Parts: sequence; C-alpha cells; structure tokens
Amino acid sequence: MKAVFSALQLQHKPTRFLARGAIVDYPESPERARILLKGARKAGAQVHATRSFADEHVTAVHTPRYVRFLFQAYGKWMRVKGAFPEVMPSVRPVERPAHYPRDIVGRAGWHLMDFSCPVTEKSWAAVRASADTALTAAELVTGGEPCAYALCRPPGHHAYADRAGGFCYLNNTALAAEYLRRSFARVAVLDIDVHHGNGTQSIFYARDDVLTVSVHANPAKFYPFFYGYEDQLGSGPGKGFNLNVPVPVGSDDEVWLGAVQHAVEAVGEYDPGALVIALGLDAHESDPLKGGAMTTDGFARLARAIAGLGLPSVIVQEGGYQSDVLADNLAGFLAAYEAGA
Ligand SMILES: [Zn+2]
Repeated sequence: MKAVFSALQLQHKPTRFLARGAIVDYPESPERARILLKGARKAGAQVHATRSFADEHVTAVHTPRYVRFLFQAYGKWMRVKGAFPEVMPSVRPVERPAHYPRDIVGRAGWHLMDFSCPVTEKSWAAVRASADTALTAAELVTGGEPCAYALCRPPGHHAYADRAGGFCYLNNTALAAEYLRRSFARVAVLDIDVHHGNGTQSIFYARDDVLTVSVHANPAKFYPFFYGYEDQLGSGPGKGFNLNVPVPVGSDDEVWLGAVQHAVEAVGEYDPGALVIALGLDAHESDPLKGGAMTTDGFARLARAIAGLGLPSVIVQEGGYQSDVLADNLAGFLAAYEAGA
C-alpha cells in the first residue's frame, strides 16, 4: 500500500488549547504525524509524496470565503494591536441570520467554531498540504490502486464547508470522497474515529450520491455533543443517506466490532463504487482523549471487517493522539486492511 505524506504538515504548531476551562498544551501535535509515519512504514507501506492540486478541488467542498479566510487570517490578525500570534475566536454568531463581518476578529468568530483551531503563521501551508495528501491518495485509487493511505495532519472530519472545529480546518475525508465522485457514481464514507464526523455529515447531508456512516462514542456525553445522533438521517434528496451508529463512551473491541459490522452492512447495501475510511485511532484505551477501550488487535479486526467489502479505498487519517501504541494501532489496521482487501 502507498502511504501519502507531506512534511509541510509538520509546520502547523499551535501552542495552546482551551479544555474544560484550562489552557493546556495542544494535543494535535506534529509529533503525531511522525509517529503515524513510523506506523505506516511498519505496516510495509511505501511512502509516496503529496502532490499539489488546484483550488477547485478544495472549493468543491468548502466555500471560497472560508478558504480565503484561512489563507489570509494570520496576516490580517497580526495587524491587530496586541494580538497573540495565533488566530482564536472570542465571539460567535449563534443566531441566524447574521452578517459576515469585515473585521478579522469577527471573521475568526464566524469561521472558527471552537477553541481548538488556532491559525498560526504556518497553519495554511500545513492545512493545504493535508488536503493535497487526501487528494493524492484519492488520485492513486482512481488510477487503479486498490487502496491508499493518506497521512493527513491536521485532521479534517470536524471541518464544515465554512467552519473549522475539533482540530480540523479542511475536511480531507470529504475532499477525497468528492474527488472519487468524478470516477464513481456513488461513494461511501465510513468514519470510525471515536468522535462523530460532524463536518463530513454536514457537507453531504442533503446528497444521495455520497453515503456517510459514522461509528463513534455517544455524543450525548462526548464531543461533538450536538451531532452524531441516530435520528440525523440526512435531508431532502439525502434523506436516508446519513447513518450514525453511536456506541457507549468507553466501549471495548466487541462493541466497536458489532457497530462497525452494522455500518459495513449499510455500506454494502448502498453498493458504492469506492469507499473513504475516516480512520481515527482515538478509540484506543491508551488514547489521551479517553473515549473508548479498544485494543491494538481490535483495530486489525475492524480493518478486516471493512476490507470484506472489497471496495477501492482511500484511508484518510483522522484522530489518534500520542500514546505508546499509536504507531502499532496504525500498522495493525493498515496491514490487516491490505491483507483483506
Ligand atoms: Zn477523534
């Protein structure tokens, strides 16, 4: 399997994050990507360089206004007297209708949904490289590779068409799915990150040409709290093409495997031409975000269950934070997927 990677992704290095009222170290660190690269190599993957794609692929999923904001935000922010060198929101437009403001402080509030997405001097370079990494992997698959792994960092599945959130800026999974749609009439997304893929759900919510399925810890007690419920089924022509499979917070391998098998059946019934796996590894018992109790072997079992679909697949890295077993979790998943695909 090819593992697509760009070192530009390491340049995004926010220093702080607001968690439970405390300012703490930023958990979505460049070190994660280095560990994941080791994991991919351990699985026998060949590292393949990310190539640059035109903006039209990004604006196929995101609003041009939001892409412009991400590109310009740091420069505009640094002209604000007394600004800390990380763009952060301080006010949010909760009621709609609302006006899109001219001021960068207002725009930060418009586009940055929570306090987990600071924009630093080098963030755009890394975010764009992460998007290109997903697109490169999708291109490999449309070119005939049975599967490709996109080592994307920062992750993407919490990013909306017009907003960043949950460490995510551009939705790499959605970009890969949209790219695959050029070659396949129907594409499915299966998200197994411990957090619900709310951005991906939103982007495809009213569409029937991309099935979105997410297995995740129950949002009633876990981020992203407001999204990821079973009654969120899609809207308009997309009704019936969004499936949420929440599992209790702290679930073990057996519970996750049962939920993923249910998700796999739904994907099979949809009969897509290709699959994007939004691969979070943060349901592991050692993950510092503490949402699941999976083991390393559990990820290999999930991989085998999904590989049974036999679909051309883009595996996009989502969450999974620093622990002693992060590389092993990835290696186990990729090796089992390749063997089963
Ligand atoms: Zn996650």
